[in-house]
Amino acid sequence: MTIISEDISKAVKLLNNEDVVAIPTETVYGLAGNIYSEKAIHKIFEVKQRPLFNPLIAHVSSIEKAKAITRDFPVKAEMLAEAFWPGSLTILLNKNNAVPDLITAGKNTVAVRIPNHPVTLDLLEQLSFPLAAPSANPFGSISPTKARHVESYFGNVIPMILEGGDCKNGIESTIIGFEQNEAVLYRLGSISLEEISDVIGEVKIKNKQEIAPDAPGMLSRHYSPKTKMFLVDDVEKFVKQHANKKIAVIRFCRDKHIPGIEHIEILSEKEDLKEAASKLYAVLHKLDGLNLDMILAEVFPDVGLGKTINDRLERATKNK
Ligand code: AMP
Ligand code: MG
Repeated sequence: MTIISEDISKAVKLLNNEDVVAIPTETVYGLAGNIYSEKAIHKIFEVKQRPLFNPLIAHVSSIEKAKAITRDFPVKAEMLAEAFWPGSLTILLNKNNAVPDLITAGKNTVAVRIPNHPVTLDLLEQLSFPLAAPSANPFGSISPTKARHVESYFGNVIPMILEGGDCKNGIESTIIGFEQNEAVLYRLGSISLEEISDVIGEVKIKNKQEIAPDAPGMLSRHYSPKTKMFLVDDVEKFVKQHANKKIAVIRFCRDKHIPGIEHIEILSEKEDLKEAASKLYAVLHKLDGLNLDMILAEVFPDVGLGKTINDRLERATKNK
């Protein structure tokens, strides 16, 4: 019997009962539990094998509900929420006392967003608490963008996956925090830095070392397939140097044919970085199941969501 179901009322029951449920969002599928239930939150960390120092994002269905778990809401946060919620932007805000340390890893900030998925918004409306929902994958592996990705990871250990179709954006939320009123980028994601700057002006970008202890989504090895992966500027040259290997290639938009390569995945024929980002994880899941010697990815243009794609590809290549 499949645990994939469209039954929102069943998900409500399980969550009210302090259990966990995988939920669809427009970014990736999340593994959700009541932020106030120690039992549910411990189960999330256990199922994912996620270290406790890695805080979770709280998902709510309205700005009022976001305000109910935070101490203050800076003007720039209001502007961002107005512009991007519901949507793929997570904002770090000072938490109030009711928010358990378990979901913030002891920090005094809590990560909050309103996801833009009708099924999960409906679910959140029926609950009296926010949902903590990290991506529904074992820590460090490729995030799930389809219900069956979650099933292959956790089919035996969680009671339900709420079916919501393929994730439209297919890549995690962008995370923005504040330091002395200045906006700081914690994680590149589904909303580009350019879009954010259009709303609030300059965003401070720290280097990875500075930010690593605060945002383990920034850990250098993450989002990784089991197959050895490389990120290269010159695909053809690399292929020639590895003539006897079974290789798959991930490219942005051009040349479907490279001599000697059977599997070439073009992420966007029409050169649309948003489309490319939405397909990236599904393609990685697929190629990882083909028993290849290596997966090769071409460096994407360093603008807009190309920056996010390159960030994920770089981390994915750190698979031993
Ligand atoms: P995931 O839920 O798997 O997308 O990961 C959530 C990301 O949000 C992780 O990289 C966390 O480190 C980050 N995060 C959540 N809460 C905070 C916080 N209070 N401060 C900094 N980063 C946070
Ligand atoms: Mg994750």
